[in-house]
Amino acid sequence: MSLEVHVLGTSSARPAQGRSVSGSIVETSEGMFVVDCGEGFQNRLVTYRSEMKTHAGRRLKMSRVAAILLTHGHLDHTWGVLPWMQTMALDGRKDKLWVIGPTTSEVVDTLLGSEGEPEVTPSDLVIQYDMWMDLGANTETLGYEVEWILGDGERWVNMNDGSQVELPQPLNNITISAHSTQHTVPSCAWKISTGGRKGKFNREATQNLPDEIKAVLASGEDIEYEGELLEAINYRSNYRPGQSVIISGDTAEQAIDSECDLLIHEATFLKTHIDIANEHLHSTAAGAARTAIECNAKHLALTHYSGRLEGHTDSLNEAREIHSSVFALSDGDRLVLNDDYSLHHLVKSPEGWNHQG
Ligand SMILES: [Zn+2]
Repeated sequence: MSLEVHVLGTSSARPAQGRSVSGSIVETSEGMFVVDCGEGFQNRLVTYRSEMKTHAGRRLKMSRVAAILLTHGHLDHTWGVLPWMQTMALDGRKDKLWVIGPTTSEVVDTLLGSEGEPEVTPSDLVIQYDMWMDLGANTETLGYEVEWILGDGERWVNMNDGSQVELPQPLNNITISAHSTQHTVPSCAWKISTGGRKGKFNREATQNLPDEIKAVLASGEDIEYEGELLEAINYRSNYRPGQSVIISGDTAEQAIDSECDLLIHEATFLKTHIDIANEHLHSTAAGAARTAIECNAKHLALTHYSGRLEGHTDSLNEAREIHSSVFALSDGDRLVLNDDYSLHHLVKSPEGWNHQG
């Protein structure tokens, strides 16, 4: 089961140098996720979809988008949400749509019933939620079911009824998880993992283990038992792990607490501007590469460039000093993570896509 990422915006903060603000589609065999949805997302999507039809010979069906996953509330990552939701209503969407994003722990406390008024910044998603609801981003107005989920990474709240819920898993056999990142507002990276093939569980090999240890191994997780690490992979035949992509939000350079095959990471600045990166809680290309190493990522794709960068050659060079498989994204590019974990970078050209890497 391959994973494909359609890149619809690679600029930071504002459109610049022919790049638009953030927005990507992650396509799996089970359906799709949109990760961030900045201003003008749907304009780019219209063009992109017609190019997919002309040059790749297939349609990207928006009914297959199960969720919009927001990394944080800055408008260059969110301002396209509501117009696009309204377009899907005009297009007769019937399928449920999840909108999921981070907020602060204080907001979660309040949503779950604690007294007090939490301090929120104007970009907090809870404010945008309230505003968008008033503007009609709800089931009643749109005519298809919309479920808003906000959380602090640990606890998630269904905004429809204010109940605490597990992070929803909108697609079968695909797991999503949120991993906190460090920015001026609550932010997270989204990880999307395909199920892989579990193989057959070997009961005989585990017969002397306690049931709770067996259960963990059967679920595919590794576990320590009597001082020894038992790896789930050793208890299944024909096991094939799934594939995973992490898309960072805006973030200072910091470890992401999960591994992945492909890391798509912001690289707003070059080394020469590391002070500005630190001050504004953004990353350099080299910082993204260091994070990719820590995530054990086989491939790193750079995105979210500052408007002051005229091209991405320097970003690529700085990251390649640290990580061996780095790609620099531009608007309209596609990334295909194959079953054998090789990555195809399809670079957008006026005639379609050129295969690189
Ligand atoms: Zn941003």
